[in-house]
Amino acid sequence: MTEETKTIDQSKLIDHMKYLPGMEVIDSDMLDQVVAIRNSFNNDDFTDKDVRLALSKEHLDPRDFMALLSTAAAPFLEEMAQKAHLVTRRHFGNNITILTPIYFANYCDNYCIYCGFNSHNKIKRARLTDEELVVYMMQQNYTCNRRFTEV
Ligand code: SF4
Repeated sequence: MTEETKTIDQSKLIDHMKYLPGMEVIDSDMLDQVVAIRNSFNNDDFTDKDVRLALSKEHLDPRDFMALLSTAAAPFLEEMAQKAHLVTRRHFGNNITILTPIYFANYCDNYCIYCGFNSHNKIKRARLTDEELVVYMMQQNYTCNRRFTEV
């Protein structure tokens, strides 16, 4: 069946937010916890003391993050930026990683809602030849997860 003749039967589309038959079901109340914490946020509960406490910690809990997101944190933006900078440097140093995906074909049997290549989109499907792939990579200045160091 070509893309031109394929019609979409909405009743057969998969709900990707639900478990499908055969999938391992991960039993977790994480989402409920996150929503409950989010709903418990009250901006007026936080003072500069809470913000200072959060900034002094190595490991923050949800209440610390709330303090940093509250309006009480507004006078501490520079301190927050400096701490974020230190944490970033500790984990990543001066490196920036650039990922360059290679699109050598756009065929797909799946239906990921966000993706323009999903099988229900009526687009022209193609696969690059080896020669076209070489030209494409040269045109894209292919970086292959090259790491750059800030100078
Ligand atoms: S190409 Fe798009 S629709 Fe296909 S599996 Fe990847 S993300 Fe999902």
